[in-house]
Amino acid sequence: LFNRLKQSLLNTRKKLGDNIIELIRNKRIDTVILDKIKNQLLIADINIHTTQKIINNLRNYISFNTNCNEQSFHDALRNEMLKIVTLIDRPLFLQEKKPFIILMVGVNGVGKTTTIGKLAHYYRLKNKTVMLAAGDTCRAAAADQLEILGKRSGCIAVITKNTTSDSASIVFDAVKIAKIKSVDLLIIDTAGRLQNKIYAMEELKKIIRVITKIDATAPHETMLVLDANIGQNSVNQVRMFNEAIKITGIVMTKLDGSAKGGTLLSIADHFSIPIRYIGIGQNIDDLQPFKSHNFVEAILK
Ligand code: GDP
Repeated sequence: LFNRLKQSLLNTRKKLGDNIIELIRNKRIDTVILDKIKNQLLIADINIHTTQKIINNLRNYISFNTNCNEQSFHDALRNEMLKIVTLIDRPLFLQEKKPFIILMVGVNGVGKTTTIGKLAHYYRLKNKTVMLAAGDTCRAAAADQLEILGKRSGCIAVITKNTTSDSASIVFDAVKIAKIKSVDLLIIDTAGRLQNKIYAMEELKKIIRVITKIDATAPHETMLVLDANIGQNSVNQVRMFNEAIKITGIVMTKLDGSAKGGTLLSIADHFSIPIRYIGIGQNIDDLQPFKSHNFVEAILK
């Protein structure tokens, strides 16, 4: 698993870890080097606030450890990054809810539907019974895509439409059916139109109200999907969604090939929202639970 992760994060590591190793190689670590490292962190899509925090702590470190060498400095940098990501390393725990309900949100194109397929597959492998609901009624292809993914991963059912084709009503039916069938996990897809974001948020709120009507403790997880390639703009996406509906977990997709994996550190630092999973490819098994140590090791070396 770790090797697969390391391979996926190659481009981020090239931009981040490899360049930092070059900067500190055979050097005495001083404020000039520290400035160069700061630039490198910024170039690697870690935003100014988070970068500043890391650099300030490293500045303290070198002032107290005047004879720090390349290796001890590298370890100190690793520790600073770990401090940030271990706080949000809290895996999703499926409580015995029957159904445990995951509401998936995120703007179009981030990989939401693909991630639902991956999650269904992941939990099927853990012998959970899974049902999907197509709450995205704007994109005709979304329901078809979900049906294919549901079949492939062995879901009990995929609820795609009823007489109304209103998303909240489809979700209402899905929750009821999942309860009757005593399904372990229900994953709900939602629309992600950004151009009309007020309406989309109202629709999400309506879906949540409908779910809560049937189970006051649900949704048990409201999971925001982010595309690693959009870089710093993802901080705005988290803020936008979190202000409208409370986000309880994040999936960052497309880390494979992206050079912007550093963004994950900014997200972790800005919001204390757990990063549950990361997407590292287009296949159904290209999803990994987020592990802070492995992630830092893979981007830093
Ligand atoms: P949605 O509009 O958010 O539902 O996005 P889709 O699930 O349709 O995905 C959009 C595109 O992103 C598709 O081509 C997916 O194959 C691709 N995709 C999703 N997740 C990943 C990932 O982790 N890595 C890569 N490389 N591609 C991904």
